[in-house]
Amino acid sequence: MNLCDIRVVKSLMSQHGTGTKKGFGQNFLINKQIPEAICEASYSYHKSVNPQGKSAVLEIGPGIGCLTYELCRAYDKTLAVEIDSSLIPILDKTLSEFDNVKVINEDFLKLDLKELLEKELGECTVSVCANLPYYITTPIIMALLEGARDENGKSAITSITVMVQKEVALRLCANEKKGDYGAISASIAYYGRAERLFDVTPDNFLPPPKVTSSVVRIELYDKPIYKVNSEKMLFKTIAGAFSQRRKTLLNSLSSYFSGISKEKISEIISQLGFPPDIRGERLSVEDFCRLADEIEKEV
Ligand code: SAM
Repeated sequence: MNLCDIRVVKSLMSQHGTGTKKGFGQNFLINKQIPEAICEASYSYHKSVNPQGKSAVLEIGPGIGCLTYELCRAYDKTLAVEIDSSLIPILDKTLSEFDNVKVINEDFLKLDLKELLEKELGECTVSVCANLPYYITTPIIMALLEGARDENGKSAITSITVMVQKEVALRLCANEKKGDYGAISASIAYYGRAERLFDVTPDNFLPPPKVTSSVVRIELYDKPIYKVNSEKMLFKTIAGAFSQRRKTLLNSLSSYFSGISKEKISEIISQLGFPPDIRGERLSVEDFCRLADEIEKEV
């Protein structure tokens, strides 16, 4: 059964009395080459960094299972989390040939990620691979980056390969030398290296989304490589720096950290060697770490 054949998708859904739901961000892939390429991008990296041991993958939003099918063929174990209960009986059918897959009917954002990975995939190294529901791309990615680390900062996740809207992909992969750089780009840069791999046009989906999509791979550092006293303060500083897009770093930070005087913030900016009129989008993640350490002393 070709799970990307549009007639198969429609017939499976109508047999089970369901249809695509916009509210769940359901745009199903209808070109088999795309899930094959997404899986290959995920698995080839996973194997290059974890050549030995059992491989596992976590998928968020399997839909009717076209990407899940490829993941089950490549990885030793696949765990998929799907919010839409009407798709579960379809997945039972489309994945019936595999005994290395488990589908959980839950809202991914309500799960305790660490507990889930430990319980279901404890002995394996884990990658994440998904065609994400676009309405919750950023919270899902942040949950994956933040929620899978132990008390020493070691991540249970090796890499995250996801399809997102192209404009989001550009932001995820931007750096301080390129446009589109924002709070999410700086936060991701703290955890790993993001790369946009290829674009996918709307005609490859049912129903077609309004915009072009891109596949992005984030290769996570085993542990954070940047030194900062408080991660909490780092993310607050990043949020503060980008809180007022067209303003200087000084103005954005002083309205965000209302407990610190503007003079003090100006002093910190100059002490760190930045021009007085610099904007947040010129600061690298390393710069943000230095800035956060100085701000922390004042709060
Ligand atoms: N993987 C399929 C494909 O590529 O054709 C479907 C991808 S579709 C863009 C997004 C999927 O995420 C849908 O199956 C949707 O029901 C599911 N989804 C949406 N919100 C979710 C959530 N909070 N937790 C888990 N799954 C979710």
